[in-house]
Amino acid sequence: MDIVIVGAGPVGLYASYYAGFRAMQCLVLEALPFTGGQIATFYADSTIYDVAGFPRVTGAELLERLERQARSFDTEIRLGARVTGIDATAQGVRIRWAPEDDAAAAHTIDCSAVLLTTGIGRFAPQPLRLPAIEPWLGRGLDYHVSDPSRFAGRRVLVAGGTQRGVELAVDLAERGATVFLIHRRDRLPVPEALRTRLDASTATFLPYRELAALEGEARVTRAVLQDRRSGDRETLAVEAVLPCFGYAADKDTLGNFGVPIEDGAIPVDSRMAAAAGIWAAGDAATYPGKVRVLAADFGEACTAVNNIAATILPGASVFPGYSSHTGGAPRETR
Ligand SMILES: Cc1cc2nc3c(=O)[nH]c(=O)nc-3n(C[C@H](O)[C@H](O)[C@H](O)COP(=O)(O)OP(=O)(O)OC[C@H]3O[C@@H](n4cnc5c(N)ncnc54)[C@H](O)[C@@H]3O)c2cc1C
Repeated sequence: MDIVIVGAGPVGLYASYYAGFRAMQCLVLEALPFTGGQIATFYADSTIYDVAGFPRVTGAELLERLERQARSFDTEIRLGARVTGIDATAQGVRIRWAPEDDAAAAHTIDCSAVLLTTGIGRFAPQPLRLPAIEPWLGRGLDYHVSDPSRFAGRRVLVAGGTQRGVELAVDLAERGATVFLIHRRDRLPVPEALRTRLDASTATFLPYRELAALEGEARVTRAVLQDRRSGDRETLAVEAVLPCFGYAADKDTLGNFGVPIEDGAIPVDSRMAAAAGIWAAGDAATYPGKVRVLAADFGEACTAVNNIAATILPGASVFPGYSSHTGGAPRETR
C-alpha cells in the first residue's frame, strides 16, 4: 500500500482524489459509519459561502461532489474503522486499526506513508446514560451499524431523533426491519423531506419517550420506555437497540500516532510532513498562520499528497501536472 489516509472528512476525501490522480494505491480509514466528518455530523443542511467556486453550497451538496470526485479512482474507503496507533517500519509505517463494532479485533496495514486528516478528532457516539448499561454492548445494544441488512426481519429500537437516528430508522424499515423510533419531543429536528420519508415508512415514531432500562438474558429482548409527560412506563419487545444521540469529538487517539501535539493539532512543515512517513492536513494539522477553513484545508491536502508522491514514488516530482492536460487521468504509470 502506498498511502493510508486516516479520516474521510472533506479533507480526507479530497486527499484521496489526489492520491488517485498520482496513481498511488490508497486506502481511507474512517471511524464513523459515513463520510463527511464535521460537515456530515454537524451542518449538512447549512449553506456554506466561502468555498472557492461555490458562491453558496449546502454541506450535503459539497460532500456529494467531494465523494464523487474521490471515487473517480479505485480508492477503497473503509467505514467504521478506527485507527488506534502508528508504528515506524523499515519501509514506512504500520497502521493499527480496529472495527468500531469489534474493538477487540486488531488489524494492521503496512504502507509507505500515512496522511492524518483526522480533523478535530475521531467522532464517538454520545453514549446512553443509564446505569449498568455496558454489559449489553454487543448483545443487542450497538452504537455502530456497519451492516444494516442484518436487521432485516428483526424488531429494532432506534433511540434519538437526530438526523442520523431518523435516517437509520427509515433505512432499516426499508430493509424489512420492524422499527420503533423514540425521541424526547414530538418535533423531530430533521429536514422536512426526511420527516416525510419517515411518515411514509413502516417505522413507528413514539414521541416523548426515553429509554429507562434494557432487559433480557443472554441478549436484549425488551426495552423499558418512559413517557416524559406522564412518567408512565411501557415495555417493548425488541432484539436490537441502536442509540443515535449524536457524536462528540474525541482527540485522545491523536496521542497514539507518535507525533508531537500542539494545541490539539499536529505541527507540520511546509510540505505538511510531521515525522518520517507521517503527514497531516486539514484541521488535524497546525503551522504558523494556519487558517481553519475548508478553502485552506483543500490546498493542504493537495500539498501533502503531492509531496508524499515525490517522496515515495521513484522519479516522481512534486508537481502533479495539470488535470486539464491529462483528461483527468493520472500522469504516472505504475
Ligand atoms: C458547525 C460548523 C460550521 C462550519 N462552517 C464552515 C464554513 O462555513 N466554512 C468553512 O470553511 N469551514 C466551516 N467549518 C469548519 C470545517 O467543517 C472544518 O474545517 C473541516 O470539516 C475540516 O475537515 P477535516 O477533514 O480536516 O476534518 P473533519 O471534518 O473533522 O473530519 C475528520 C474525520 O476523521 C475521522 N477520524 C478522526 N480520528 C480518526 C481515527 N483515529 N480513525 C479513523 N477516523 C478518524 C473523524 O471521524 C472525521 O470523520 C465549520 C465547522 C462546524 C463545526
